Amino acid sequence: MLRSLFLYLSQANWAKDLMLRIGFARRTAHRFVAGDTLPEAIDSTRNINQRGMLVTLDHLGESVTDEASALQAADAYLELLEALDGSDAEATCSLKLTQLGLDISEDLCLRNMRRILEKARTTGNHVTIDMESSDYTDITLQIYRTLRDEYEFDNVGIVIQAYLYRSEDDMRALASEGAYVRLCKGAYKEPPDRAFPDKSDVDANFVYLTELFLNPQACTNGAYLGIATHDEKMLTASKAHVTTHNIPHENFEFQMLYGIRGKLQEQLRDDGFKVRLYVPYGTQWYPYFMRRLAERPANVWFILSNLFRR
Ligand SMILES: Cc1cc2nc3c(=O)[nH]c(=O)nc-3n(C[C@H](O)[C@H](O)[C@H](O)COP(=O)(O)OP(=O)(O)OC[C@H]3O[C@@H](n4cnc5c(N)ncnc54)[C@H](O)[C@@H]3O)c2cc1C
Repeated sequence: MLRSLFLYLSQANWAKDLMLRIGFARRTAHRFVAGDTLPEAIDSTRNINQRGMLVTLDHLGESVTDEASALQAADAYLELLEALDGSDAEATCSLKLTQLGLDISEDLCLRNMRRILEKARTTGNHVTIDMESSDYTDITLQIYRTLRDEYEFDNVGIVIQAYLYRSEDDMRALASEGAYVRLCKGAYKEPPDRAFPDKSDVDANFVYLTELFLNPQACTNGAYLGIATHDEKMLTASKAHVTTHNIPHENFEFQMLYGIRGKLQEQLRDDGFKVRLYVPYGTQWYPYFMRRLAERPANVWFILSNLFRR
């Protein structure tokens, strides 16, 4: 029930306006967000790199409703790529298509993505397209394949969510295409005719999809999997699979969110696995923060404790 409440609040403008005015909310959100500005994101990336981990940077933003904001979001990514190129910090990028104008026009979004991927190509960088709610799954996959096949960008990846019934077919196709995929459980509110309502089924599907995707043939085709979870059961199953089937380390990595399960991140790193942290930055933290609360309502205690801190 709390999960549904937070997912509802993540899209409610009145709640957003209220939270943005409250100082302690912003302070609390910073447990999950590296900072408001690009220099803070670069500093954070450098620190994480020095601790032996990889980074993907997300300039926060989604669901923009005017063309100027979509262009601004694309410009922010060009600036990010430029800044990374001129620094000793190393990170790939992650973004959302609704941030780049998908709700306004597919063409605008595609143009923005092409600008970003061109720049990323010249700086030797990689961009992963986050997956949003299931209303966007088809169009997101379609834009991803257009960029990859028609415009021949080989520096773009996509996210698949284990809670969707359709994901088995999507993962099968992407494995045979030798794609770069991040697999996560899924963070949005979905109806039972599209997504498994029970967490145990989502967990079982996550393991199944990891094993389906990371097969020797797909690895030979260049398929790459970002195993994005903080769930120890998922990590144990993935590690057993890659060991049993001798899956090369160049075909997968583990991914976790900034500010979540730090000890587990370091443990995986110490076990010799590649670990990439998803590091968001920027002022548009509200919906991202609400989804983090929805995943773990116990985080509410963390908010309440901050309320009483100066
Ligand atoms: C790198 C990365 C990228 C992602 N990209 C997307 C995307 O593009 N689209 C999308 O829909 N979702 C995305 N997600 C979110 C994902 O779908 C899940 O909602 C989220 O990862 C929680 O699921 P879990 O696998 O950690 O398992 P869970 O079963 O939810 O959690 C396992 C354990 O992890 C810890 N944990 C999990 N979440 C939190 C939290 N918020 N705060 C504190 N502890 C927590 C708890 O200890 C919990 O018991 C991404 C996740 C990661 C790690």
